[in-house]
Amino acid sequence: MNLSRRQFLQLAGVSAAATAATLFLDEEPALASDLKEIRISKAREVPSVCPHCSVGCGLIAYVKDGQLLQVEGNPDNPINEGSLCPKGAATFQFAYEALGKPNPRRELKAKYRAPYSDRWEEISVDEALDRIAQRVKETRDRYFIEEKDGVTVNRLEAIAHIGSACIDNEENYLLTKLMRSLGVVFLEHHARI
Ligand code: SF4
Repeated sequence: MNLSRRQFLQLAGVSAAATAATLFLDEEPALASDLKEIRISKAREVPSVCPHCSVGCGLIAYVKDGQLLQVEGNPDNPINEGSLCPKGAATFQFAYEALGKPNPRRELKAKYRAPYSDRWEEISVDEALDRIAQRVKETRDRYFIEEKDGVTVNRLEAIAHIGSACIDNEENYLLTKLMRSLGVVFLEHHARI
């Protein structure tokens, strides 16, 4: 069969769409029954609002026996129409604290590579935080600028801070306070980048 380039691309597109549709239809019954089992037959829907940022996307919390089973975007909310950014989609993780359960996704170890070393070693998060605090103190003591051109500026240009898109508004408020108190001026939030 002789095909022009355009005909070949059209045929490839139709084949890909047909394959995708087949996969979707094959998977749909299992997914639909899971949803019915988890979210409809067992749970009560509680409309809520994402706590992370001022966009204020709508959530639905699925609750049974006082326990949160699932959180997802609210399709009836005119702001997000059911969609959520990754941060909002991870809202369920707040539930571990409320339920008094350890979050299985929480990192308890950090990777550290000493200066001039060619390998990483595993240290505890507490030790990593102590090291970070020590470095921040040393850097601030060394580079803090009190005055420039006769004007009091009280700023620190040797440290930049980014994040976090994984914490809530109140934590971001505290983080901003902390950075401003250090004099950090290069302060950004990576949900915006
Ligand atoms: S963090 Fe994401 S999901 Fe939550 S309100 Fe903001 S944009 Fe919406």
